[in-house]
Amino acid sequence: MNTIMEGVIKLLPDIVANQIAAGEVIQRPASAVKELMENSVDAGSSIIELWINDAGKRLIMVVDNGVGMSPADSRLCFERHATSKISSANDLFAIKTFGFRGEALASIAAVSQLELKSRRAEDEIATMVRIEGGKITSQEPDNLQVGTTIAVKNLFYNIPARRNFLKGNNVELKHITEEFIRVALANIDITFKMFNEGRELYNLPVSNLKQRIVNIYGGQYNNRFVPVEQQTDLVEINGYIGKPEFAKKKRGEQYFFVNGRFFKTPYLHHAILKAYSELIPESSIPSYFIFLKVDPSTIDVNIHPTKTEVNFQEGSAIYAILHTSIRNSLGKFNLTPSIEFEPEVGFNQYFPKNKEVKPPTIKVDPNYNPFETGSGKNRQKSSTHHGDNRALSQHGWMKTQDVENRDTEQQELFPTDEELCKGEKSFDNKSESKIFQLHNSFIVAAIKSGLLLINQQYAHQRILYEQFIQDMANKKCVSQKLLLPVELDISKEESTVFDSIKEYMTAMGFAFNKDEKTSAYTCTAIPADMPPESISSVIESLMEAWQNETDISKVNSASIKLSKVLASKLSIKTGVRLSCREMQTLVDRLFNTEQPEISPSGKKVYIILQVNELEERFK
Ligand code: ADP
Ligand code: MG
Repeated sequence: MNTIMEGVIKLLPDIVANQIAAGEVIQRPASAVKELMENSVDAGSSIIELWINDAGKRLIMVVDNGVGMSPADSRLCFERHATSKISSANDLFAIKTFGFRGEALASIAAVSQLELKSRRAEDEIATMVRIEGGKITSQEPDNLQVGTTIAVKNLFYNIPARRNFLKGNNVELKHITEEFIRVALANIDITFKMFNEGRELYNLPVSNLKQRIVNIYGGQYNNRFVPVEQQTDLVEINGYIGKPEFAKKKRGEQYFFVNGRFFKTPYLHHAILKAYSELIPESSIPSYFIFLKVDPSTIDVNIHPTKTEVNFQEGSAIYAILHTSIRNSLGKFNLTPSIEFEPEVGFNQYFPKNKEVKPPTIKVDPNYNPFETGSGKNRQKSSTHHGDNRALSQHGWMKTQDVENRDTEQQELFPTDEELCKGEKSFDNKSESKIFQLHNSFIVAAIKSGLLLINQQYAHQRILYEQFIQDMANKKCVSQKLLLPVELDISKEESTVFDSIKEYMTAMGFAFNKDEKTSAYTCTAIPADMPPESISSVIESLMEAWQNETDISKVNSASIKLSKVLASKLSIKTGVRLSCREMQTLVDRLFNTEQPEISPSGKKVYIILQVNELEERFK
């Protein structure tokens, strides 16, 4: 029996070797970290340690307690295409383990000074192999517990160009940490430790996924996530997704694992982003840790060693399933923080009790077509703006002249000025002291759990936005006729844009007249809440938004876009002084919207300072 047969490692047949895309495996210290750690996982280890010096440029050492290698395998593993993990090309398509190319160790050894110690359970003693620039320089017996330790020293010592190409230590260490985290997230049943310059950076005991995330990122992550779970014949999904309020500007905590391996999949990333749209600012990215289980024969793993991309045969179905389950999780865990006002503050009585848990969507009638004439359906959920317009209009943010079509059901829900003055449905006087305005910009109120701070401008934008969308969908937009029609200054170029958006604007409450001779447009009516002096700037913004709209074929997206513009144009701004009553009305209306926590342009509408956070600050 020759030495090769003794061990488990087989040399890949040439044909298989050729099927494997060539390419450089090791580009930077982090790539070596990934390969070494994945080998340790494959070796069935229960504890894996990573030791780093000089951002991996001087030392990368991985210590495991896995199955170990025989003395023969300890040499053979450095041969290119030496692997214990596949022996036929078919296996390549059913990859279940990490390493499968049989070239990682060979590649690392070729560009470093490497020491490998290994011992199997059945061996009395360990073996130590030294290899430099790919050439074995010595092999001798050594002491070691069962398992394998590989120390990669002076990476790229023999390729100065490569070495010089490396980034600063901070950057390289960040890449290393990232690889460490990916492997640690995918293997929660293994204890991982990472040491940098001898100091412990991570100590991750065996735990459930949530605890592992918290152990990696810190205790403050405990409340940042909600679970996702979905089982279908095609795919099993589980994991955690970040609550919208913790979405960050920069990329980072976005992880897909497919059958236990980290992969990038821009396509599914988009499915998640889409599920968060309306919930987070456009430039923010939610955190997610998503584990997908699929039949390995239905995925196409890019076999290029440095790429981590995967394609799914049933991509669009998986996209839809993932999108829906994310949406469901966000809805199920009703991510609107519960706001309970102190009993003395009068808001509660106007809050719909037992507000139903619902997915965070803006309800728009998908069948709505603004080109259709005839009477609209009854509105499902009444918008809440009409009854209190008068309170708001006192300060001139809202002018409601000549208003028809009033929504009478609403007037009962919300106190009118007169009612408030008479003390019916009163906000009692004590509330005056519990709500106030800060810097003419923020509304501050005491709530049960602490302090509520509302940005008045964003709050009003949210209110108006939902109002417009609903009113448009239900064809209930209230229009005010202009006494003097306003002539619009629309150039020839602009007129095509204007023509295509006219119908939508009409649905919002605008009315236009075209002079047949001159082709000039005049505006004869505008939405009820709109100050007439802003006509031209609003129409300009609407046209601009329309031109930038990529998906204009959809009626819904058009009305959303236009509603956004109108809401931001017409909202009260920061710097406007509000009376107590106006603030109360604004708060009431805000918390009657579908998405009070986020403005239509994605800004946070309010923040809550919890009592315990406050206590923390005084420590
Ligand atoms: P691959 O992982 O693709 O098989 P590698 O070059 O990474 O190729 O490793 C070659 C072989 O060396 C592996 O198939 C495995 O048999 C052996 N090996 C590498 N690292 C370890 C380890 N930490 N413990 C046990 N065996 C290992
Ligand atoms: Mg490997």
